[in-house]
Amino acid sequence: MTLSRKVLLLNASYEPLGTISIPRALRLVWKDTAEVVELDGDRVLRSPRFVFPVPSVVRLIEYINVRKRQGRSGNMRASIIMRDRYRCQYCGVKGNAFELTLDHILPSSRGGRTEPENLCAACKACNQRKGDRTPEEARMPLLSNPSALRYGLEKAAMYHAAESRPEWRKYLFLEDAKLVKATVA
Ligand SMILES: [Zn+2]
Repeated sequence: MTLSRKVLLLNASYEPLGTISIPRALRLVWKDTAEVVELDGDRVLRSPRFVFPVPSVVRLIEYINVRKRQGRSGNMRASIIMRDRYRCQYCGVKGNAFELTLDHILPSSRGGRTEPENLCAACKACNQRKGDRTPEEARMPLLSNPSALRYGLEKAAMYHAAESRPEWRKYLFLEDAKLVKATVA
């Protein structure tokens, strides 16, 4: 039960990177790759010989370049379909990960990048109908506010999880504060 809880992973800069499982967080801490920033109340994990306090937030010791990493991420497809809540972003039909495809919002033939911000879940019919056109050209507006797609892959999941994890909020808001600053500057 405790094992299904998530741990918030922060970059060395305190930028939230996503959520990981408790065993993975413990391994990172064990290997001195990450340090515990917040504990999950007084939850503990017991092994026959040890009792581990369960971390709630861990921070990487060394900064990692997220941009580079995202491109290599093997489960980007699954994450995007999850972010889009298993709905075609053009017609709204629900589907599973096998039924839905990934659509380049700005087609790759027109310079659209393979990045979360430019990808959305689409049913096969819509993907085919849209073809090499932009949503405007195809008159197929996106259901989600496109600005919502700008949130990185993990963010929707992080914000969702943060509803029950008040100790995460200051790290998520830290980023919001930075974003606001960046927009104002
Ligand atoms: Zn569709």
